[in-house]
Amino acid sequence: MSRKHISKKNAALVADWQALQRIFLRPENEDARAMLLKYMEQILFGLHDFLKEHVGITEEASLKNLADKYKQTRISKHPEKKLAEVITDLVRDIAPHAVNVASPYFIGHMTSAIPFFMVHLKTIVAALNQNVVKLETSKVVSIVEKQVLAKIHRLIFHRSDSFYNTHVQNTRTTLGAFVEGGTAANLTALWVARNTLLGPKNSFQGIEKEGLMAAYQAYDIDRCVVLVSRRGHYSLRKAGGILGIGNDNVLAMDVDEHHRMDMRSLREQIRVFELNSRTKILAVVGIAGSTETGSIDPLREMGELCRDHGIHFHVDAAWGGPVLTSDKYRHLLDGIDSADSVTIDGHKQFYMTMGCGMIYFKDPRKMDAIEYHANYVNRPGSVDLGMKSLAGTREANSLMLDSALKIMGTQGYAILLEHGIELAKKFAAEISRRPLFQLVTPPKLNILTYRICPPHMQAELFSGTSTQRSHINKTLNAINRTVQRVQREAGRSFVSRTTLNRRSPDAEIVVLRTVLMNPMTDIQILNEILDEQEEIYRCRFGTNNLKGVA
Ligand SMILES: *Cc1c(COP(=O)(O)O)cnc(C)c1O
Repeated sequence: MSRKHISKKNAALVADWQALQRIFLRPENEDARAMLLKYMEQILFGLHDFLKEHVGITEEASLKNLADKYKQTRISKHPEKKLAEVITDLVRDIAPHAVNVASPYFIGHMTSAIPFFMVHLKTIVAALNQNVVKLETSKVVSIVEKQVLAKIHRLIFHRSDSFYNTHVQNTRTTLGAFVEGGTAANLTALWVARNTLLGPKNSFQGIEKEGLMAAYQAYDIDRCVVLVSRRGHYSLRKAGGILGIGNDNVLAMDVDEHHRMDMRSLREQIRVFELNSRTKILAVVGIAGSTETGSIDPLREMGELCRDHGIHFHVDAAWGGPVLTSDKYRHLLDGIDSADSVTIDGHKQFYMTMGCGMIYFKDPRKMDAIEYHANYVNRPGSVDLGMKSLAGTREANSLMLDSALKIMGTQGYAILLEHGIELAKKFAAEISRRPLFQLVTPPKLNILTYRICPPHMQAELFSGTSTQRSHINKTLNAINRTVQRVQREAGRSFVSRTTLNRRSPDAEIVVLRTVLMNPMTDIQILNEILDEQEEIYRCRFGTNNLKGVA
């Protein structure tokens, strides 16, 4: 009976008042219910079929063909399609040309497979459509948000019971905030640090109010800097630009041989700036899981140094933060509790859907430095979470994280993370065992980099002069770029690549980069991926073809 209703195929598509009223209807009768269920089925199962396929990152040529298909720039006046057709189009035409990030052969980036329940949780968030910018559009959801912020805050800073009792639902204080990603979290941390450093003083009303020029005058300085290692995420440079201090003043410090902040350089740099009274250090940033190599800075030492010098210490744990759930590996982030602020991404190792970053502050009054009010929302002392956040309207990501933490427990997340870390170790051993490859950055977490470097070149790199080495590296860079591209375009598996900048003569090294977070990825799959790379190398650069490279 309901079938007829669903497949009224030839009815003309018109946008009239009646039709529009229907789209706001709820599943109140049998027909409506059947229809809504059918759509959900179509989405879940249609996409599932697609997700069984290969990785499918398309090559340049087919990307052009695709682009040719999408050149319509006019919005049609009348409806073109019904929901059922739109879903079919998306499942049949879009999904097969999207990237199957859930494939266990997709080991190149930081957003990957998600547990199936995230799709259900996301549906609830969309269906409720609460806007946590203010209590009037979210009510209990804002309160849940404060609770989950306190849970993660506790995971990072483990302050006392009485501390959390005081602050978990305190409307005057803030333990952290949900933002759209690590980029916004880092920006927020530096925004707070900037406003604190250049706050009101005598007749000066603070940088947020009077701007940069007035602030530099009031404080008698002409420069603010942020110190972070070379492995810092580029979002910090964006923040430098947006906050007006200039991204040239986000200074890339040297790293040691493990790609961690070189403490000697950091100490020296701080000393130099302290002698120069016209420069202020806005923040020092430690990285807990660098995007390129997964390396972790010496957080404890950095924290102590910053405390001694009264410098804001921010830890970018966008990637590594969730490792705190693991009893076995938490020690890798030792010292994170000495941070003034910490970035964590929900959409990375908390396996959430995209659009979930978080920023945490040890001191629950710190975020007052970015407080804004408006007459119609965000009144002082309300639970309006928009008071201290860059975003206005914002969805209730906190509901997803709170639910996911209940479904998984810290133990569940720990198992996933430990699998990734241990698999990375096995993978590193396999890379080292194969003569064609060179392990470039051994994994601390679940990220490692390596490159193709045939034995004769390894020998030459070892004994060559710096000119020779730099020449060989150029050749190797070309080889690795090609192999990575050919493998990607073949569409079976995906490993990313990056260029590690170091001091010469190994100044610029192109490396293959793997991020092991999909629990379905195992050592056998990783072996297949290496086999494929060896095969590509042999076809393209086997001894007979090597001349073509340099
Ligand atoms: C991913 C990442 C970021 C940026 O986060 P987005 O969510 O992509 O904005 C910042 N820092 C580190 C260390 C990251 O891994």
